[in-house]
Amino acid sequence: MVSRLTNGFQLAADGIYRCCAFQEFLWQSHGFGTRAANPEADVTLRQIHSDLVLNADGLTDRQCEGDALITNKPHLSIGVRTADCVPILLLDSRQRAIAAVHAGWRGSAHAIVRATLRKMNADFGTEPADIYAAIGPCIRECCYEVGQEVAERFCVTFPEWTPHAGKRHVDLAEANRRQMLSAGVPVSSIFDIQTCTSCQIESFYSFRREPQNPGRLLSAISRLA
Ligand SMILES: [Zn+2]
Repeated sequence: MVSRLTNGFQLAADGIYRCCAFQEFLWQSHGFGTRAANPEADVTLRQIHSDLVLNADGLTDRQCEGDALITNKPHLSIGVRTADCVPILLLDSRQRAIAAVHAGWRGSAHAIVRATLRKMNADFGTEPADIYAAIGPCIRECCYEVGQEVAERFCVTFPEWTPHAGKRHVDLAEANRRQMLSAGVPVSSIFDIQTCTSCQIESFYSFRREPQNPGRLLSAISRLA
């Protein structure tokens, strides 16, 4: 079997990346898609770049609008679609609850990953200390140049930025990582594949590189037991 390891993520022969740390939890199954293959998801949302988090219980596929799904129901896979935006999969190692998050710049500016952690706490009693997080392929700082209005939304997240007018490169994955850290997720429990969709257009879909291409990467997770 051909397999390649990238920053704690394994690309298996089926063309799907999996976070090695998640694989320790035999009660879950997850994957980050590539151009070669996508994992399957029973429930996805009509994504609107919001900070809306929905419990997938009782939902059918694409029934609702929102940008993050949570569940603790076995055999219900939940997923998000991305092409440059940040896909984040979460698992609660104690309560066996899971989440799939779509964080573009708007969702990241609204801290959708923190909203997801809050809803997991409300619905399942999830504590951030029990969370494992996997950040999948997305556009990275190297390729993500934005205008001043967008950059200004991230000044609080990146206090080390020196004052600077005009365009700026933003690291959306790092913004989400910092939001999870400040919510109490342990630094050792956050895994980032550190792969750029725009740089690796042969492996992934990138909206910036190919705005006409309707291809999307699916990132999905399910609880098996
Ligand atoms: Zn890049």
